[in-house]
Amino acid sequence: MGLLLNLDRHEWFVALTFGVLMDADHLFATPRYVSDNGLAAILRPTWDDGSGFQWRSLFHDPIAFGVVAPLAIGWRFLIPLLFWGTHIGMDYLQVWTIDHSALVEAVVFALACSGIVFIEYRRWKVTMPEGSLREFLLHVSASLRSRVSARRFSSH
Ligand SMILES: [Zn+2]
Repeated sequence: MGLLLNLDRHEWFVALTFGVLMDADHLFATPRYVSDNGLAAILRPTWDDGSGFQWRSLFHDPIAFGVVAPLAIGWRFLIPLLFWGTHIGMDYLQVWTIDHSALVEAVVFALACSGIVFIEYRRWKVTMPEGSLREFLLHVSASLRSRVSARRFSSH
């Protein structure tokens, strides 16, 4: 979504805060959840163990709309609300499809990856109108390799 909306640095920060970092609340619940259910239970599709244990903060409740909506005023695309709402929507999708969560997550992941490749390919195509998909993938591969080797070089 961030690529699609062509966010700037500040907007990316806000988008990741409201869309991803809000799951940091699970870290506070982890010690108790693990002591009650064991370490392997971390991999369960849901941490709802039937005990009523709150492993999500109120930020994961629709009631948080009342806090997020005012914070979104003035932002292009109402970014805080858009990314928070998408996170909440994805969480609801996961709960609704919990019996097939591995399949649903794989489909959502594949769609997101395809979208990223499509957007990046279209942007690259502007600079290389004659370029093929194969040349684009070679370009991505080469730039990833050069980034990795640059990082390796700078760490010594
Ligand atoms: Zn979440």
